Amino acid sequence: MNKVIIIGGGVAGLMSAVAAISNNSEVTIYEGNEKLGKKMYITGKGRCNLTNACDISEYFDNIVSNDKFLYSALYSFTNDDVIKFFEDNGCPIKIERGNRAFPVSDKSSDIIKTLEKYLKRNGVKIVLNTRVESVITKEEKVSGVKLDTGNVDRCDRLIIATGGKSYQATGSTGDGYRFAKDLGINVTPLRPSLVPLEAKEDYIRMLQGLSLRNVELTIYNNKKTVYKDFGEMLFTHFGVSGPLVLSAGSRIGKLLEDGSNLNAAIDLKPALSYKKLEDRIIREIDANKNKEIKYLLSGLLPAKMINVFIDLLNFNKHLKLNEFTKNNRTDLINLLKAFPFTITGLRGFSEAIITQGGIDVSEINPSTMESKKIKGLYFAGEVIDIDALTGGYNLQLAFSTGHLAGESASI
Ligand SMILES: Cc1cc2nc3c(=O)[nH]c(=O)nc-3n(C[C@H](O)[C@H](O)[C@H](O)COP(=O)(O)OP(=O)(O)OC[C@H]3O[C@@H](n4cnc5c(N)ncnc54)[C@H](O)[C@@H]3O)c2cc1C
Repeated sequence: MNKVIIIGGGVAGLMSAVAAISNNSEVTIYEGNEKLGKKMYITGKGRCNLTNACDISEYFDNIVSNDKFLYSALYSFTNDDVIKFFEDNGCPIKIERGNRAFPVSDKSSDIIKTLEKYLKRNGVKIVLNTRVESVITKEEKVSGVKLDTGNVDRCDRLIIATGGKSYQATGSTGDGYRFAKDLGINVTPLRPSLVPLEAKEDYIRMLQGLSLRNVELTIYNNKKTVYKDFGEMLFTHFGVSGPLVLSAGSRIGKLLEDGSNLNAAIDLKPALSYKKLEDRIIREIDANKNKEIKYLLSGLLPAKMINVFIDLLNFNKHLKLNEFTKNNRTDLINLLKAFPFTITGLRGFSEAIITQGGIDVSEINPSTMESKKIKGLYFAGEVIDIDALTGGYNLQLAFSTGHLAGESASI
């Protein structure tokens, strides 16, 4: 009987076991942790946004790295297949805003339990608290793994599903990259992704705790726009975070590494043109001539931003609106439409939702997930140089590549 070993009991490892066991292989999962799916447990704030129910063709716009490589995997095990798998196995799924799919129970543990039950029922051997230390090959073909217990386990096929290297407390410590390098397989540079950004200016830190909705964030490399999107963000003790910023973090890591100077601007009033904003401000001033600048700003800004604006604009705190000049008005509108800050870096792996970079996709056959160099060796999930935006896309990539690897390894 074909014996398949899977390293890693995360999303990709578990789904590859589902596929491998249905082809009558003997399947063993080695998981370093005391339980399966530790990272999956914290996904979607504990609710597990397991996939995105958009048309599968829309995935490619939401994949940041190597979308073409993922074509076969995504079409051979789609988002509909993922939802069907869980529903058929007693875990109903609901679709929320933005096509985000969650278990109806809102519990990520139900997703893990469903997978675990399925695997146990079908005879997959799950070995917990056991890390794989190295991969054993013979004449460019996989032959087994060496465990941290000192034992060796032989196999015909091996799937590396060890995840990335973010949130390392969940067990994803980047071992898969080491296994690949030891076998002469190229690993592209690793960087944190879907990650908050550090900012230079003290006034950004002064806004710590403030969150903004419906704003537009633009990032410039010199004068060139390298990112622009609309949504929610928040100020922190180091810079900025929130959904809009995390997505930006996926797009600019390489530029920062290359030493680019990145400046950002927040449009606090994206729904209003310069002219509409000007008309509104003129109306406010005309109706409240004897009030002070703070009164005008309180109608335009969250309270926490008022003093920051007064300082940046060099306004006298007690400036009366009847003294407000045309230049003052222009400066104010410009700042509302482009509140600036300088990006000094990404936060680290410990705060990154995902790792960018990984096993070089040119080393992997996209139709099977098998290594082109080592026969019988497969890769699945985040360990590969693939990553996507938030919205359930990353888990779908782990499910799809996992399923394809498991199916191919068991034929
Ligand atoms: C806070 C947070 C929230 C997230 N929320 C979402 C979300 O809602 N939706 C979404 O799509 N994505 C989300 N993600 C991303 C998602 O979790 C990952 O894309 C996904 O977990 C990758 O799956 P994987 O199986 O490749 O790796 P992992 O889930 O990291 O699993 C890898 C497993 O391998 C084990 N392992 C590693 N090395 C060894 C070894 N040597 N021996 C034995 N076992 C080993 C690890 O212990 C781990 O259990 C989130 C990530 C984080 C950090």
